[in-house]
Amino acid sequence: MDFSIAPDLKKLLATIREFVDVELIPLEAKLGEGFSALGPALEAKRRLVKDAGLWTPHLPKEHGGMGLSLAEFGHVSEELGRSPLGHYAFNCQAPDIGNTEILLDYGTEAQKKRWLEPLIAGEHRSCFSMTEPEFAGSNPVLMGTMAEHDEAAGQWVINGHKWFTTSADGAAFAVVMAVTDPDGNPHARASQIIVPTDTPGFRLMRNIPMMGHAGSGWASHGEIAYEDCRVPFDSLLGPRGAGFLIAQQRLGPGRIHHCMRWIGICERAFDMMCQHAATRELAPGKPLGSRQTVQAWIAESRAEIHAARLIVLHAAWRIDHEGVYAAREEISLIKFHVASVLQRVLDRAIQVHGALGLTDDTPLAFWYGHERGARIYDGPDEVHKTVVARRILKKYGISVQ
Ligand SMILES: Cc1cc2nc3c(=O)[nH]c(=O)nc-3n(C[C@H](O)[C@H](O)[C@H](O)COP(=O)(O)OP(=O)(O)OC[C@H]3O[C@@H](n4cnc5c(N)ncnc54)[C@H](O)[C@@H]3O)c2cc1C
Repeated sequence: MDFSIAPDLKKLLATIREFVDVELIPLEAKLGEGFSALGPALEAKRRLVKDAGLWTPHLPKEHGGMGLSLAEFGHVSEELGRSPLGHYAFNCQAPDIGNTEILLDYGTEAQKKRWLEPLIAGEHRSCFSMTEPEFAGSNPVLMGTMAEHDEAAGQWVINGHKWFTTSADGAAFAVVMAVTDPDGNPHARASQIIVPTDTPGFRLMRNIPMMGHAGSGWASHGEIAYEDCRVPFDSLLGPRGAGFLIAQQRLGPGRIHHCMRWIGICERAFDMMCQHAATRELAPGKPLGSRQTVQAWIAESRAEIHAARLIVLHAAWRIDHEGVYAAREEISLIKFHVASVLQRVLDRAIQVHGALGLTDDTPLAFWYGHERGARIYDGPDEVHKTVVARRILKKYGISVQ
């Protein structure tokens, strides 16, 4: 592998870093008031990003993006991850980025026109509605939401209960995972269906309070009731029964995006930890950084972040060269490993900041709360570890189910 970064990409990364530092970090002070409080100010930043030609960097050039490889976009994602507002400002935020990718791959021309084009333009938002409170999300083939085909009306009739549908508040449409063929093979029972959120029977019950905050707009997690929610038959996204297949395809690159965003968070937290260690004095001339424990935290964090970045870039490189299927072990490895590095680095940074680390005067506490979910969403740690261990044990002649 060649670890060098091409001059064009280096320049792009420097431009993005400056934008994040100058335009976005000053807005973070308002994060504590909720995402909606940032509305007009953040929209103004999004216009600046567009004007600078930096919009939707993840997309192919023919769709207005930069045509970056996954590994190249990984570097961009790291830079954007240094602020909780980075990905949103550049219109490459989850869950829209994943929905954009599946609409590009599976959307019909009509679906692209109605849903994808405004998503790319940043004129509306979307959400992905799969997890249900009544069933273990770790085993997504278990699902209660049904979509029945009313042939006479030419419609799907959806009934079910979802939660943790991130960004449902204010979204224009949801991509809903529902069982369309209950008697089929467990992995071919469900399909993905596009549901406009103003459809009668789509009911956002609440934004779920998480660690004391219900959030709002893009930064929220919705609980949704689908009650005889009817959509035209051609709202199916991709082939009938291909729901899981498409979800898997979405998750591969998605994990690279998340992991590199987490590394961006780690770098910012690390930088803040070092700044504080260098300037906070325990006694005249004795900064925190003079203490061996703090030095060990700095050195351990540096090694962990560096190693994490390398395994994520390697996984991205493998996906770029051999596809998602070939890289599935690497994808599981990075998901649980980088999530744990993130928790450790944030924890150390908070500890070094003392009481200040718990306040909303720095983004550390925001990340500590919001990113605890990193070990749970897109597959909990334990599931990924099982995937990796089973594949390894198979080479030793053990097949565990
Ligand atoms: C911040 C956040 C955002 C999310 N966004 C979305 C979204 O946009 N759309 C959506 O559909 N869902 C979303 N989710 C839901 C997420 O995908 C699920 O939480 C996840 O799949 C786990 O499912 P569960 O919560 O039902 O936990 P369960 O499946 O009930 O598992 C509970 C715990 O059991 C343990 N466990 C599970 N399986 C195993 C195993 N095989 N071996 C050992 N231990 C195991 C794990 O520790 C796990 O945390 C989000 C979740 C969070 C936290």
